[in-house]
Amino acid sequence: MTPIINGTPATAAAGKRIATASGVKPARAAAKAASATTKVQTAKVKATPAKPVPSAKRARAAAKAASPGEKVQTAKVKAAPAKVKAQPAKAAGSVKAAGGAKTRVKTQTVISIDVGGTGMKCALVDSKHRVLHTERHATGRERGFEAVVGTIIDVAKGLAKRADVSAIGVVVPGIVDETNGILRFSANLGARDFPLRDTVTQALGMPVAIGHDVRAGGLAEAKLGAGAGRSQVLFVPIGTGIAAAHVVNGIVATGAHGAAGEIGHIVVRPNGPQCGCGQRGCLESVASAASLQRRYTELSGKTKTAAQVSATLKRDKRAAQVWDEVVDALSDGLLTGQALYDTELIIIGGGLAESGETLLGPLRESLAKKVTFHRVPEIMKAKLGDEAGCLGAALMALELT
Ligand SMILES: [Zn+2]
Repeated sequence: MTPIINGTPATAAAGKRIATASGVKPARAAAKAASATTKVQTAKVKATPAKPVPSAKRARAAAKAASPGEKVQTAKVKAAPAKVKAQPAKAAGSVKAAGGAKTRVKTQTVISIDVGGTGMKCALVDSKHRVLHTERHATGRERGFEAVVGTIIDVAKGLAKRADVSAIGVVVPGIVDETNGILRFSANLGARDFPLRDTVTQALGMPVAIGHDVRAGGLAEAKLGAGAGRSQVLFVPIGTGIAAAHVVNGIVATGAHGAAGEIGHIVVRPNGPQCGCGQRGCLESVASAASLQRRYTELSGKTKTAAQVSATLKRDKRAAQVWDEVVDALSDGLLTGQALYDTELIIIGGGLAESGETLLGPLRESLAKKVTFHRVPEIMKAKLGDEAGCLGAALMALELT
């Protein structure tokens, strides 16, 4: 089990909940965790009656005035403490201890939703970065993007009933204008110029941050994962595609048009394989997990997943050849990245990073051979796995509270 955050035991426990709640553990355990947290928050609110109203609450009050629908939601939130009373004191006590019941600082809780092409990862995360509850839902993109947005709103409303939430972070794949909260284009979700932030804000009546999934993942890895404590980080997830997020002192570069970090479309093999973007020989067309599989089949006539190729390098000559090609192309791409960004740490994520040192060892060697005047960056495996985007969405939402 990968610890979610370098921090307190409470954080590690929260990380455990991620893995279990998203997989086999009954929903009851997750509900219990969320309810227990609600109790802590309720207790804290009672203990600090004189505390000034947080800015998020003011925002909600303003939104309430603008939206009659908010009344329903307020009633639902008020109903939450009754449910909490049924929980065993032990559970609530342990959370209290972890959260520091005697401190007078009220923790904020936010909703985070990472919308992928096939599934949505959703969570409640507090301002100490503890994951209180997780859920997964199907994206159902075949229904059209408006229906997907309907699901995002329904899921957020459901999560808002579980805790006193202050803000929402939603991250999506594609070209995202984070400043204006508009999803400019997403091939995965079939969306174009959709005012996602305003739509979700109107439906939920609270502040909403909209972000790009990879940039959000990079933010989380840089702040809470493999890059914790580092100031200059490049996060490169390698899966079906290849992208990057450049994080400097906790801020991710978005680019002027919301399209920064497309390292997968650096041409590393002129006249090479056709890329989905229309160009030939992009890094993604040679070194993504999907391209690796395609190339293996081309050479051997057989089918292997990227993980199977990685596991059979010593006994399968074709697998070793494909692996070498992928590593060579990746180090070309990272060399360009290093020339542009001069980072101290490159964090490799995505499915291909699961090969661990089988990938990272040769990649370090290959990059070290190619650098001239550049400083060789450290290369590490991502720590947060596929929860990075969801945690990044939470970090973005917490900035609004
Ligand atoms: Zn391309």
